[in-house]
Order: sequence, then structure tokens, then C-alpha cells
Amino acid sequence: MEAKPQAAPSTGSEGVDGTTSEAAMNVFLSQHVKDAIPDTVCGENSVLPLFTSLDWRPARTHLIVSDEAGLAAVERLLANPFPVSGERFTLHVLGRENKVDVLLLPDRMDACVNPDDRSFRELLCASLRASSSPTQLYAAGSQSFLLSVSRLARPGERVGSAIQAELTGSRARDVQCMCCKNIYRDIDYRALDCPRCEVTLMVSDHYSASVGAFETVALRPADANLQTLRKQRLW
Ligand SMILES: [Zn+2]
Repeated sequence: MEAKPQAAPSTGSEGVDGTTSEAAMNVFLSQHVKDAIPDTVCGENSVLPLFTSLDWRPARTHLIVSDEAGLAAVERLLANPFPVSGERFTLHVLGRENKVDVLLLPDRMDACVNPDDRSFRELLCASLRASSSPTQLYAAGSQSFLLSVSRLARPGERVGSAIQAELTGSRARDVQCMCCKNIYRDIDYRALDCPRCEVTLMVSDHYSASVGAFETVALRPADANLQTLRKQRLW
């Protein structure tokens, strides 16, 4: 007996009886929408932050920042011959301990550890304010850490474009709510709720360099893709 050809999944919403078949639609979406969303929503507008391997560049002041995930990259940088132009070297670590090999730290380097995010940010801002000479900023760590550093360094343009960032840890994103402009850190999934304006947001693949975070678009509460997007990891 000849098998019947399998019907291709319909992208429409009508069932065999002409009425809406929500269950059938949900099955189709769960099987296909995961790959379709980035193409159809973000597509060619995808703009990701630029990361690189840390390398010494000419500057008078060299400011190095890292979270615990970035310490190996810092060690690689410190193992290279120091730039002759450097007069001042500072290392700020966000974490509980500085695991960088002390033999790599020169006498002229100030190194400090900041156990919490707030004290780290205050110290980094103070260092940037105190920089009167051309400064090179080196950052290593998770994507969320690197984006937060880029947001802190931008006001006043103290270091301008002289920022290098090496991604070494989590790729969870910092995202900005399109409604209230609040920034949420370490987002792992494609959909999230903004508690401020009670809007459900979808994280796009477009990174705004001026904001220092990924952009979002609002989703309707009845959006058929919503549950799939909540389970879709960003990395
Ligand atoms: Zn909001």
C-alpha cells in the first residue's frame, strides 16, 4: 500500500474545518520558530559589539579592568613586553581575589580588588576622572562586564575610542528596555519582562554602541511566539 505523502507544515492558522487550530500552530512554532526568529526579526540589522585580544598600545596611562573570568586574558597581556610609553599602570579587578601571577605585576602597577560591582564602578569612575594624560583602557571578562565598562568609560569621552575589550566568559547580554530605557544585565534568554513598565520584551541582535547595550522590541502578551522566546537562549 502506497503511503500518503506527508503534508508540509502549514504556516497558516486555519484547521481542516476552517477554524483556527491554535494547538497545531503552537506545535509548528515550537518546531520551527527558534531558527526563524533571528533571521526574520534581526536579520541584516544584526550588529554585535567588537571584541579583540588585548594588546599593548601607546599611551601614558594604562588602565586594566577585569572580572574573574577575564584574568587569564590579563595575564597574557602582562606577559608581553610593557610599552615604553607607559608611565602609569593600574589594574582593577571585580571579584574576590586577584589571581594574576604577582610576578607579572611590575613595581609601578597599582592593583586592587573590588568584591562588589558598586565599589568597582566607583573606583573605575574615579580612575577615569583622575586620568589627565592619554589613557588606554583594557577590559577582559564576560560580555555583561565589558558592556558595563564601556558605559562607564563613555561619559566625558575620557578614553574616547582607546578601549580594548576581550570576551572570555559568559555571553549573557545587557539589554535596554525600549520603553523606560532601563538597562538589565546578564540576560540569557530572548524574552524578558520589564518590571518597571510591565512590558514583555524581545532581545534583538542589534547592539547600540551609544547606549552600551542590546536593543529590545515589545511583544504583545498574546504573541504566539512568546513561550518559545522565553526558552530560547541567547548564547
Ligand atoms: Zn521598561
